[in-house]
Amino acid sequence: MKNGSKSVVVKKALFLDRDGVINFDPDDYTTSLSEFQVLPGVIETLKQWFNAGYILIIVTNQGGLAKGRYTKDVVHAIHQYFQGLCIQSGFVIAHFYFCSHHIDSFRCLCRKPGSLMIEKGLHHFNLDASECILIGDRQRDIDAAISAGVRGILIERNSRIPKPEEVC
Ligand SMILES: [Mg+2]
Ligand SMILES: [Zn+2]
Repeated sequence: MKNGSKSVVVKKALFLDRDGVINFDPDDYTTSLSEFQVLPGVIETLKQWFNAGYILIIVTNQGGLAKGRYTKDVVHAIHQYFQGLCIQSGFVIAHFYFCSHHIDSFRCLCRKPGSLMIEKGLHHFNLDASECILIGDRQRDIDAAISAGVRGILIERNSRIPKPEEVC
């Protein structure tokens, strides 16, 4: 936004849970690219958030990695595919953070409701937490956001991401 000779940039982000928010969550892990089904309207809605000045950041628990259900190559392939869809539509995902741990085997700080993935995003992109929003479909997503000082919006699993004008 240009305001006379000065430009004011508010560094704000929309943090997004992945499974059940971006793509259909069958209540099991997404173990391959072919199982990754983007929910209707997601690309259009994310473009609106991007155009509203929000950096888009994915924060996703992928405990199936710790359980050996799939590999990091699969996770990277899924994220690369989704990034391609976004780029085709004229915007980008700034970063995909994923936690590869599971509480059964390793007590990390990144698995939500841990807030480390969100805190990394806030730091790496020099964001103002109070200007950021997280959208997730589980209470642990919201708890992670609150721990990081970010407003959380809980939606129903596999439903619809609210548009900026609906929540801002
Ligand atoms: Mg989810
Ligand atoms: Zn972790």
